[in-house]
Amino acid sequence: EGEKELTGLSLKNVKTGEREHLPVSGLFIYVGFAPETAYLPGNLERDAQGFIVTDTEMRTNVPGIFAAGDIRSKLCRQVITAAGDGATAAQSAFVFLEQLDG
Ligand SMILES: Cc1cc2nc3c(=O)[nH]c(=O)nc-3n(C[C@H](O)[C@H](O)[C@H](O)COP(=O)(O)OP(=O)(O)OC[C@H]3O[C@@H](n4cnc5c(N)ncnc54)[C@H](O)[C@@H]3O)c2cc1C
Repeated sequence: EGEKELTGLSLKNVKTGEREHLPVSGLFIYVGFAPETAYLPGNLERDAQGFIVTDTEMRTNVPGIFAAGDIRSKLCRQVITAAGDGATAAQSAFVFLEQLDG
C-alpha cells in the first residue's frame, strides 16, 4: 500500500481469512524458491523438495536429459552457479551426442 512510496502491507491469513495491516517502509520479495518440475517426466529423479537430482556433470538419471541452474538439487542457487551449471550441461550434452554418433 502507498501512493508514491510503500507505507504498509495488507496481509491475509490464508488459514483464517483474517486481514491485517502492517506498516512498513521497505520490502524484500522472497519468492521463487519452489521448484516447478511437475511438467518434467515422472521418472526423472527428484529430491525430497522436488528439485532434479544430477551428478557433477549435470547428468540426470535419464540418459540425454541434463539439468542446470535453480531447478537442480544443490546448496547454492545464484546467477553465477546457474551459469556454471549451464556451461557444464552444454558440454555434457555435446559429449553425449558425440557418443551417440559412435
Ligand atoms: C527474489 C529473488 C532474488 C534473488 N537475488 C539474487 C541475487 O541477488 N544474486 C544472485 O546471484 N541470484 C539471486 N537470485 C537467484 C537467481 O535469480 C537464480 O539463481 C537464477 O535466476 C537461476 O537461473 P536459472 O536459469 O536456473 O532459472 P530462472 O532464472 O528461474 O530461469 C528459468 C526460466 O525457465 C522458464 N520456464 C519455466 N518453466 C518453463 C517451461 N515449462 N517451459 C519453458 N520455459 C520455462 C522460466 O519462465 C524462466 O524464464 C534471486 C532469486 C530470487 C527469486
